[in-house]
Amino acid sequence: MLEKVLIANRGEIALRILRACKEMGVKTVAVHSQADRDLKHVKLADESVCIGPNPSTESYLNIPAIIAAAEVTNASAIHPGYGFLAENADFAEQVEKSGFVFIGPKAETIRLMGDKVSAIDAMKESGVPTVPGSGGPLGDNDDANLKVASEIGYPVIIKAAAGGGGRGMRVVHRENQLLSSINVTKSEAAAAFGDGTVYMEKFLENPRHVEIQVLADGQGNVIHVGDRDCSLQRRHQKVLEEAPAPGINPDARREVQNACVRACKEINYRGAGTFEFLYENDRFYFIEMNTRVQVEHPVSEMISGVDIIKEQLKIAAGIPMGLQQEDIQFRGHAFECRINAEDPKTFMPCPGEIKHFHAPGGLGVRWDSHLYAGYKIPPYYDSMIGKLIVWGEDRVAALDRMKVALEELVVEGIRTNTPLQKELVRDAGFRKGGVNIHYLEKKLAEEN
Ligand code: ADP
Repeated sequence: MLEKVLIANRGEIALRILRACKEMGVKTVAVHSQADRDLKHVKLADESVCIGPNPSTESYLNIPAIIAAAEVTNASAIHPGYGFLAENADFAEQVEKSGFVFIGPKAETIRLMGDKVSAIDAMKESGVPTVPGSGGPLGDNDDANLKVASEIGYPVIIKAAAGGGGRGMRVVHRENQLLSSINVTKSEAAAAFGDGTVYMEKFLENPRHVEIQVLADGQGNVIHVGDRDCSLQRRHQKVLEEAPAPGINPDARREVQNACVRACKEINYRGAGTFEFLYENDRFYFIEMNTRVQVEHPVSEMISGVDIIKEQLKIAAGIPMGLQQEDIQFRGHAFECRINAEDPKTFMPCPGEIKHFHAPGGLGVRWDSHLYAGYKIPPYYDSMIGKLIVWGEDRVAALDRMKVALEELVVEGIRTNTPLQKELVRDAGFRKGGVNIHYLEKKLAEEN
């Protein structure tokens, strides 16, 4: 097994990784910014190193500082968590070049999937269903671009190959807007991502967001750990997730799961990964692959019993995957509510000191969070302060359990989005299951 893991992240995911390491007898190194000295995992880690000032560009994104911390603490591997450097191919490369194990895919795989055009190409080759589109970057020939759009059929969406975080996209409803939209997206992409490559896709009007979790050991063994529905989003940010995705066509599900496993084998994928799809009218359309662990991974753990972080650690240690597809038996239903330090109406971040705190508990209730009473939430980072995850025998039982768990959660001293989450688990449309990606924003707009 790995001897000592440096956790290149903060907050709840750093704590989640630390717990998995401890359970496996792996030593841990926490790295933190000046503001983050009092993070729970920093206190619990075997060693900790301050890697820089508060802005993440000078700490959690500071590659030389992180590698230096691994050197001075004699770490054997680096876990990037999610966000920050998790999908930075240069970081993965430098980690490995410096003699450490990167807990994730090879740098070349991160690069392949980081460019959406090459990712879609690779998926098509493996038979993963993609959105009808230009099948490559758009050139400068206006007539050719107009022809592609009319063949796909309006509305279309112009997307930056290097885009991410919901940026670098533009929907085009009419032919007379196409050429100017392509030009604007190109120059925006060049400015934002240093790469002006754009491509075109059919714009699906009312899709759901459904994703498939995979695990691959890079030695030919690949399994999927089912699907998740993350359609409840605000500004492309997921708010409440569940597994399995409700009401999915069983044939389409089986086919897409097999295609994801096949794709992993073909690109010789290593580690945990997620294939993100839009799902509309019983069909899956690939949009991108995340080459890291995701915020919402616990809902898959709850219905499968698989510890995704431990599997990541074993894979990184070069241990062939013991799990076979037949070993994965899904049971019941799970939900995850992201708890953010923000105003539930205006969504403005609300950093500050936690005066009083009480975590929910009981059968099937899991609270993944670094919070404690007296902890001061710094204003410099993401506002997510915890994830409340519940399991139930079926969807209704899990929703009812979430209702009770949310009532039990007490976070005083700051505002959180808990009132919104309470409303969502009671929402009649959501309780029916299968809402699309516009549902939450429409609901919020109607209330205002
Ligand atoms: P990012 O990497 O920025 O997250 P994605 O390709 O995952 O970009 O797309 C982000 C979101 O944009 C999707 O979850 C969906 O809401 C919307 N989107 C992207 N492509 C399409 C499409 N072809 N049709 C409809 N919506 C889309």
